[in-house]
Amino acid sequence: MFHFGFRRYNLPFRQAVRTAHGVWAEREGLLLRLEDQSGIVSFGEVAPIPWFGTETREESEAVCRELGAEVSAETLAAVPERYGCLRFALASALKSDAAASIVGKKALPVAALLPAGRAALDVIESKAEAGFRTFKWKVGVADIGDELAMLDDLIAKLPSGAKLRLDANGAWDRRKAERWLGCCAERPVEFVEQPCFASASQGADACRRSDELLLGLANDYPTPIGLDESVVSAGDVTRWLELGWSGVFVVKPALLGETAAVIARLEKAKARVVFSSALETAVGAKAALRLAFAYDGEPRALGFGVWPLFRDERFDGPYQAPFIRAQDVLAINEEAVWNALS
Ligand code: MG
Repeated sequence: MFHFGFRRYNLPFRQAVRTAHGVWAEREGLLLRLEDQSGIVSFGEVAPIPWFGTETREESEAVCRELGAEVSAETLAAVPERYGCLRFALASALKSDAAASIVGKKALPVAALLPAGRAALDVIESKAEAGFRTFKWKVGVADIGDELAMLDDLIAKLPSGAKLRLDANGAWDRRKAERWLGCCAERPVEFVEQPCFASASQGADACRRSDELLLGLANDYPTPIGLDESVVSAGDVTRWLELGWSGVFVVKPALLGETAAVIARLEKAKARVVFSSALETAVGAKAALRLAFAYDGEPRALGFGVWPLFRDERFDGPYQAPFIRAQDVLAINEEAVWNALS
């Protein structure tokens, strides 16, 4: 049995995040606290992104209220799968002693986030000087001709040996995706993230056509393609593995529910995985980064170049740097983050 507690949070971002669904100004979520009978305390975070298809904060909060103040491990394990973010939080709290599993990698590189459009050109040099060697640029935001013209200006500013990731967030149709991928073929582009996407709300036919388009593009062009919006749940990851997807999986552990089985499947398939932030607090980030450090596969720059993220910096993870060290992850003080909500 455990003593169970949870606290809700509404944390304004330092800068509002522009998404395909509009402006995201404030992160909503829950922190969970479990205390076992010997007094050992552990924490987890529910950080949903409902427009990605996860539960809402209110939905997971209603489940937490029903769980009550005293719960058994069996009850916690029985939370239904559609509460993927809550299941991730509970699983990471229950397995927090697995922190000892960070042994394989001492440090992992972090990708520097570049602003969309021409503003990226002003930022790239200072990021390179700080030591970043992987850069991520949001595309599909402005006119395609203007963006393609900017691509070479951007590449010219990259330090030698640097990698560039492009993230279209599903903005392109087939013709635009083909034009971009044709251009990337001769350029140092590590991968193109989510060139096209159809959400479930567009219907099953649109989703099937979009999946086929992604598979076709992956076959026709040499630059790898990354799936992000396409792999929101553990079920999505499994489905793409079964389709033989050989591109990149951008994995936001916070959305994946109980991660053990799906991570094992990715490892077995020797999948190329980029572990990424769901813009969670340091509590969820600690659990997600533990998985990244333990992943048995080629280390790739983390999609965790997000901090400082919150107006209240007590909720941020390790500060933005070109590397995150395993010891920085272990040093995250979850209890301090929990107490900051009292
Ligand atoms: Mg993305």
